[in-house]
Amino acid sequence: MEKLQAEITSFVTKRNWRKFHSPKNLAMALTVETAELLEIFQWMTEQESSQPTREVLSHIEEEIGDVMIYLTTLADSLNLNPLDAARRKLRLNEEKYPA
Ligand SMILES: [Mg+2]
Repeated sequence: MEKLQAEITSFVTKRNWRKFHSPKNLAMALTVETAELLEIFQWMTEQESSQPTREVLSHIEEEIGDVMIYLTTLADSLNLNPLDAARRKLRLNEEKYPA
């Protein structure tokens, strides 16, 4: 996770984009990217969504990458670790929804 965060920071810094990366802007960008991911599945049947063509799967992978980049950047902007956040939330969910 730290390596990915460092790679993203390097990419952003080299382009002088950090000034655009307030948590608010990053949260909005994350939502846009999740919408782009959702758009791929719009109007697909259940079966089509489970068996995408190679081209569609490649597009899905790109959008998952965008989502991951913005999620990671948002967390980093608030000094949060997304993996720790996920584990903490999973523990809360285990208490809320016992097996
Ligand atoms: Mg995208």
